[in-house]
Amino acid sequence: MTKIAEGKVVSIHYTLTLADGRVVDSSSGGDPLAYLHGAGNLVPGLERQLSGREEGEQLEVEVQPREGYGEIDASGNHVLPRQAFPADAQIRPGMGFHAEDEQGNLMQMWVTGVSDEEVQVTSNHPLAGEVLNFAIEVVDVRDASPEEKDHGHPHGPGGHAH
Ligand code: ZN
Repeated sequence: MTKIAEGKVVSIHYTLTLADGRVVDSSSGGDPLAYLHGAGNLVPGLERQLSGREEGEQLEVEVQPREGYGEIDASGNHVLPRQAFPADAQIRPGMGFHAEDEQGNLMQMWVTGVSDEEVQVTSNHPLAGEVLNFAIEVVDVRDASPEEKDHGHPHGPGGHAH
């Protein structure tokens, strides 16, 4: 059996449940998710705990915020003028967008509130501060192609189609 290690394309079925029992994401009923191990395709705590596992294994993985979507950073909350967004943009809480900081780095932001004048935004991921519980079934483990390693993601079923 091939073990999960850096440079392997791994297909998993997963269900993500939060501490309060809310299921926020699942591959159940669809194709398994394919990812390239060691390329940062998954949150670090999940990737770390999948290392060394084999096809056919089922496991429960708990991921703390610092190895998941981060702790909540109160300094990550900002208020922007509504004019900072395109006039015809449909802005609603929960939507994500990319913004540039002063250094020109692209950062992911999320809308938390909107009025006629202002838009409240945060750099905190919607799942920041959450303990993540993943129920995982390892469906397949294979070697990545040189092209997949080059791109940093898998191709084919469950991966990128391009
Ligand atoms: Zn690619």
